[in-house]
Amino acid sequence: MTAPEKPRSPLARLFMGADHTLDRLLAYWFATCAFYMASLAVLVAEILAGTTPPQAGLILIGAGMAGVTSFYLLVRFSQRLGLEYWQLALYQAVWAMGCIIAAYAITGPIRGASMSLMLVVMVFCTFALRPRQAVALAATAVVCIGVTMWCMARLDPAQYPPAVELMNFILIALGMTGVTALSGAMNRLRARLKDQKAELQKALERIQTLATIDELTALANRRHAHAVLSAEEERIDGAPGPVCVALLDLDHFKLVNDRYGHACGDAVLRAFADAARPEVRNRDLFARWGGEEFLLMLPDTRLEDAHRVVARMKERVASVEVDGVPPALRITFSAGVVQRKAGEPLSDAITRADQAMYTAKSTGRDRVIAA
Ligand code: GH3
Ligand code: MG
Ligand code: MG
Repeated sequence: MTAPEKPRSPLARLFMGADHTLDRLLAYWFATCAFYMASLAVLVAEILAGTTPPQAGLILIGAGMAGVTSFYLLVRFSQRLGLEYWQLALYQAVWAMGCIIAAYAITGPIRGASMSLMLVVMVFCTFALRPRQAVALAATAVVCIGVTMWCMARLDPAQYPPAVELMNFILIALGMTGVTALSGAMNRLRARLKDQKAELQKALERIQTLATIDELTALANRRHAHAVLSAEEERIDGAPGPVCVALLDLDHFKLVNDRYGHACGDAVLRAFADAARPEVRNRDLFARWGGEEFLLMLPDTRLEDAHRVVARMKERVASVEVDGVPPALRITFSAGVVQRKAGEPLSDAITRADQAMYTAKSTGRDRVIAA
């Protein structure tokens, strides 16, 4: 069970939404925002140092701030706008690459640092983009920065010497190729782990089902019945209410096996369970307690009602026909039903139900005795 979510303050609700579905995306946005702020602070320092033209620097700072604000709004209202996670990541990555390439063109001596930011953007969107999108993004970014380098080398060869630009281009092309390839490999690994986790989850569910269900009748098995009884015992300690238990034992079942064979006996057990099951509610426990013996636990039920439930089961079961068994042979059972006394352990109530069931046997079988 997961802990209930704490209600949000009005301010948190305004910025992050009423529920927690956007928390992760907004946390990513916050990290991106911190990154932009740090980069923009460097740009301001560059402007003050006179190594970046103020006008171009301010335009880029404005673009960065506008991007960060727009992406917050896109994330915050992504559900209303029908935007998927990969779309948000792609838009942000394209914008960031654009800003970085522009920074390369205007930051002069420290332009080399911009290239490392391109790698950071690629790593950032590794898990959000599909492999083809990541390759397309990396290729477009490399082409764009290549064109920028070429233009700068032509326009301002003193600050952007062609030989240096060529070296820079080779480095960024290699870096982007390496990061994209590694990211792709990591993504495949992650996808495989996700598949394996899903398979394990399925296997676990199957094992849990096998561990709680009786294979022949598909009723709860005895082990599961014990677990449910313990849980019920804890529940009724806190909220006492009438709880009834019943034990049902098929009559002369050994004869069925002896006369018609063990397979027919199995079919009778299955037919019994199928016919009786509709009488129990979801919250009741109906378990195979032993070979041809069944336990019923009915929470919030009084003795008269429990007696009525078992009597209805008896009627249903009596009209069932089983392949291989002559129609004249009716399935009957003897049952003992008790209501738990105040403070009585359920195991004691089961013992009393067992005694009542034996009274039913000894007084002629095919009957329900409420004690
Ligand atoms: P009673 O009316 O006194 O309950 O008589 P009974 O014959 O039903 O009781 P007994 O305890 O003598 O026999 C129970 C039989 O149930 C013996 C056992 O072989 C059979 N049995 C137990 N589990 C299974 C099962 O899974 N399949 C089949 N076919 N028979 C089973
Ligand atoms: Mg029996
Ligand atoms: Mg028995």
